[in-house]
Amino acid sequence: MNKALTLFSFILFATFSVLLAKAPEEGQYPLSEIKKLDLQKAGLLISKDDIYNPNGISLIDALVNVNGCTGSFVSPDGLIITNHHCAFAGVNAASTPEHNYLEDGFLAESREKEIHAKDYIVKITESYKDVSDIILKAVVGIDDLEERSKIISKKMEELGEKASDKENSIEASVSEMFAGQSYVLFKYRIIEDVRLVYVPPRTIGEFGGERDNWMWPRHTGDFTFMRAYVAPDGSSAEYNKENVPFKPKNHLEVNPNGVEEGDFTFILGYPKRTFRNQPSQFIEYQYNYLLPYISELYEWTINLIEAKTDENDEMSLAYSTYIKRLSNVMKNYKGKIQGLRNTQLIKTKQQEEKEIAKFIKSSPILNENYKTLFTEINDVYSERLDLAEANLWFSSLFRLSDDFKLARFVIQNAEEKEKNNSEREVSFKDENIAKSISKLDNTFKISLESIRKELLIKMISDARMFSESSRIDAIDNAFDNDTDKSTISKFVEGSFISAEITNKENFNKLLTLSLDELKELDNPLIKFALELNEQYKYLKSENDKIKGALSKLLPKFNEVKKEWKNRLFIPDANGTLRLTYGYIKGYSPRDAVYSSPITSLKGIIEKSYLGSEYAIPAKLRELYDAKDFGQFYNSKLKSIPVGILYNMDTSGGNSGSPILDAKGRLVGVNFDRAYEATINDFAWNDDYSRSIGVDIRYILWITQKLGGADFLLKEMGVEIK
Ligand code: GLU
Repeated sequence: MNKALTLFSFILFATFSVLLAKAPEEGQYPLSEIKKLDLQKAGLLISKDDIYNPNGISLIDALVNVNGCTGSFVSPDGLIITNHHCAFAGVNAASTPEHNYLEDGFLAESREKEIHAKDYIVKITESYKDVSDIILKAVVGIDDLEERSKIISKKMEELGEKASDKENSIEASVSEMFAGQSYVLFKYRIIEDVRLVYVPPRTIGEFGGERDNWMWPRHTGDFTFMRAYVAPDGSSAEYNKENVPFKPKNHLEVNPNGVEEGDFTFILGYPKRTFRNQPSQFIEYQYNYLLPYISELYEWTINLIEAKTDENDEMSLAYSTYIKRLSNVMKNYKGKIQGLRNTQLIKTKQQEEKEIAKFIKSSPILNENYKTLFTEINDVYSERLDLAEANLWFSSLFRLSDDFKLARFVIQNAEEKEKNNSEREVSFKDENIAKSISKLDNTFKISLESIRKELLIKMISDARMFSESSRIDAIDNAFDNDTDKSTISKFVEGSFISAEITNKENFNKLLTLSLDELKELDNPLIKFALELNEQYKYLKSENDKIKGALSKLLPKFNEVKKEWKNRLFIPDANGTLRLTYGYIKGYSPRDAVYSSPITSLKGIIEKSYLGSEYAIPAKLRELYDAKDFGQFYNSKLKSIPVGILYNMDTSGGNSGSPILDAKGRLVGVNFDRAYEATINDFAWNDDYSRSIGVDIRYILWITQKLGGADFLLKEMGVEIK
């Protein structure tokens, strides 16, 4: 081979290796899969054991789950970094119109001044174990689908309960990895005393508001510091002044120099459910029913609440967390609708299924095993689609209507009381009921009659339009053919609102009644709720049958798909600890548009003239004008880096996840996805799947210069220059 050719082959090989190393990587890898990855080749500079090592200390020991979000320990004294939006409810609960920490931010100047974040719990993954055999053994020979699904759920619950050790604050639960196929028992250490340490003002932590939510370019300082506390003997304890900061097994090292475009990064976190291993009909259900129904209903509800609380500071503060949650889901769902339209995912999946069907036909053995697979899936889904409107209506009613949320609780409580404690649903067991009731507290505090009434009128009117298979019987019985709004309004007022179930005393009285006593009551709300309850029970049993059928069909579907695809299959995310890796990388979201992957303080100042969502603290402008950038200035950007964009595979629950560099050091905190990536939950693609984090340099700069909290930088081991 001549020299030129050798050089050419070398370049070709090198380019290919780089391409391979930088190949787009879909994947939210469970801990069990980490050892199979070639992370060094991708750019990792530490060993895989440094990330996860069941026999020693590793990075995952610094990871926590904070009320469904992710966080990480960043000091030996239990200091946790997570997102501002993850701590939001705790800050909201601690705020009053006089001390509005949401608006103004909060800094505890000493440990004693750290405020309890009410209802916050931190979980640390202690261990995991595959228990698929035990679960699946329990359903051998069970063909009844409803029965099958119930046994699986029961067995999962049972194993979780058995492995839990309340005395030592260990909570265990079984997570389904592949439906009907693989199950893993996770043990979590629980910490019940969590406090607020530094919360930036809303104008930083939520900069850009709903306008920028799920969008890139982004300039939101979505971070907050909290601290975990335990009893002086190290055991977990509820909030108590005597508690002391928790000493984690490990904490993350902070890299104050951050990252650059193209750098390798990885994320550890607790992504919630994704649905990538589902058939095309699942996406049809999402596109035609769930996404439009929920996004429209939430948008309508948000507008209603905003209009009704506009002039009332106390109420608008009280509804803040609620509105934020609804808005977040609404925009995400709208993004998904747009994404599904643009990517034609339903068609792609249908096409793929046609190919798989051909593949099945091509082999007698496959044909024997999977001949009826697609017809069976289709049959199950046609039932599911028939019931879609009714299912969505019921779940929305119990979530959004305070009256029916409470009425349902009262009825469920009476039903569950008739069973032995061990047979009851978890939240109604003797040991949990007080906590379940206390979770309703907010409903009594922030329930505005006009909102309750308008919402019910809307939901009843909507239900009058449902197709034959999804009719709501109680509503049909109450109204015959009359859809006139004033009739519905009178009915809502006279039958539901007048029952005053949102009065805590009334509610408490109802809680003492048995099911028979409830049936005897002359209370039109309870009567109606009991009637709804009958249909709901029927729906639930149909849903269980569907779930049972799918728990048999989906493993087969995935089995044959795996064979057809001939490559590793990653289970959908399910709230358990995962790793994803990738690169700081821009993208082209629309024709002729390219977005680079790092934003800066300059962009915040530019946006600050564009409307109230972009208001900034006066001090931030002063710091900017005075060019007081300190050590976090980046000469390439000629500013302070603020937001970072990357092709790591994240989803809900990855909020607050640490973004780690090649050496496993903290360089940012994940908080969102680009609009186009909201469909990550259904399909990931390197072209459009981008996630968003806040850069560590901005976090440190804000904490130091705006918050005046040098001591927190020192606690994290960041040298102040
Ligand atoms: N910002 C997202 C949320 O609030 C979390 C992260 C994600 O879903 O990518 O749900």
